Amino acid sequence: MQSWTQVYRSLATRSHHLPSALSVRSFADRAAIDADVTVVGSGPGGYVAAIKAAQLGFNVVCVEKNATLGGTCLNVGCIPSKALLNNSYFYHMAHGKDFESRGIEISGLSLNLEKMMAQKSGAVKALTGGIAHLFKQNKVTHISGHGRVSGKNQVTAVAADGSEQIINSKNILLATGSEVTPFPGIQIDEESVVSSTGALSLKKVPEEMIVIGAGVIGVELGSVWQRLGSKVTAVEFLGHVGGMGIDMEISKSFQRILQKQGLKFKLGTKVMGATKRPDGKIDVAVEAAAGGKSETLTCDVLLVCIGRRPFTQNLGLDSVGIELDNRGRIPVNNRFQTKVPSVYAIGDVIAGPMLAHKAEDEGIICVEGMAGGAVHIDYNCVPSVIYTHPEVAWVGKTEEQLKEEGVPYKVGKFPFAANSRAKTNADTDGLVKILGHKETDRMLGAHILGTGAGEMINEAALAMEYGASCEDIARVCHAHPTYTHTHTDTHIDRHTHT
Ligand SMILES: Cc1cc2nc3c(=O)[nH]c(=O)nc-3n(C[C@H](O)[C@H](O)[C@H](O)COP(=O)(O)OP(=O)(O)OC[C@H]3O[C@@H](n4cnc5c(N)ncnc54)[C@H](O)[C@@H]3O)c2cc1C
Repeated sequence: MQSWTQVYRSLATRSHHLPSALSVRSFADRAAIDADVTVVGSGPGGYVAAIKAAQLGFNVVCVEKNATLGGTCLNVGCIPSKALLNNSYFYHMAHGKDFESRGIEISGLSLNLEKMMAQKSGAVKALTGGIAHLFKQNKVTHISGHGRVSGKNQVTAVAADGSEQIINSKNILLATGSEVTPFPGIQIDEESVVSSTGALSLKKVPEEMIVIGAGVIGVELGSVWQRLGSKVTAVEFLGHVGGMGIDMEISKSFQRILQKQGLKFKLGTKVMGATKRPDGKIDVAVEAAAGGKSETLTCDVLLVCIGRRPFTQNLGLDSVGIELDNRGRIPVNNRFQTKVPSVYAIGDVIAGPMLAHKAEDEGIICVEGMAGGAVHIDYNCVPSVIYTHPEVAWVGKTEEQLKEEGVPYKVGKFPFAANSRAKTNADTDGLVKILGHKETDRMLGAHILGTGAGEMINEAALAMEYGASCEDIARVCHAHPTYTHTHTDTHIDRHTHT
């Protein structure tokens, strides 16, 4: 089934499509080529922008240095992690006591990790291949090579063999994304000391895994390996799980549920270093973040998951005088233009949440802006999701943010334990928490911990985009019995805070 975003895009395609003059070119042709828009990077920001720009009638070139299109998201991010989360969850359900309690008895159950990895790789291959197909269909010229800005209206693509292709371009769109933030002093080998990339392709289930960082990616990948049989401990500098932006009440409940599943957390704890022992195990030295006694933990696989940083290596920004901000991001104005008006940037390489859908939306509105359209995005309406079981999803403000900003608010909460669908499915962990303005009832934030939270949050995002009141949502007739019916229930249960 198509998502609403896909439906919108296909409609947009029909109404805007103009034939583009460019075809797929190979590197053998070294004469400079011309383009209206040259996109550097083919992640969810870059490929979506390239296709949309072509649909708007621009001649488009997309330069990608990796062998496959799709960027972090499709190759080593969202897609492979969700494949493993889904399948490890099935295994966990079948393996544990859960199925038995539902009258499903399985004997001789075993894990074929190689096959599970193959299913993941198959999904990645189909989706990255799909982009190549969409490029052809929309006449986006794909140039394989490292793109470097070599002038205000010029990109030079350098192929693996060193040969160069110059693209003279009216507009340049930088969508070069992000890379794993290294941990000072810890060398990643992607075998026993891994980043998220290595953790998506381990060849066997580690007996013990330590995850540095209990943010979104840390708890997702920690969950995968814990479900497949590892003893997983996540060491986190902050005092809570789920990363930045999560509501604290939700984070606490989430942590309790993950702990019940077997994940261990060492919060308020910093990693001091890691050493490989001759027997292959890894000793990880940790200490209370506030200072205190140190301790050594041991594991077979150490997963370094402390975040991502913008990727601008050898991008040639100096050649046009573009300087990075203090966090290594490319500064842009509200039309995504850098200080050089013909050079734009979107996605992980600029400020804002590092999320695929944020990059995609920026890509679309950025090229619409190039075509003379309005450019508007409300970052407050960008949802976040953690794809564990149960899922965590939120949009808008947290209770802590509203307190800090002095906004008068009220809270509506409803536990899934009282939701009929959750009860029938024996899947009642979690709650829905809606924050509304105390005087106007305008919805200010939605926080969901529960099965399908990542799907449910999109209704809240839609409501917030439309400036809905909490009552508006509650008065929408929600099908019964569904988890989403909780949005109606939340209205019944609402109580007030100051
Ligand atoms: C394990 C993991 C799980 C994740 N899960 C989710 C999730 O569930 N949901 C979500 O929203 N986000 C998720 N993310 C984050 C998401 O992947 C990123 O926010 C998203 O990919 C950013 O898109 P982008 O287009 O800005 O950059 P990227 O996807 O990083 O793409 C950038 C592309 O540019 C190319 N490139 C860079 N420099 C050059 C150059 N000079 N020349 C040519 N090509 C270049 C790179 O090779 C890359 O292909 C996850 C990330 C990880 C690591």
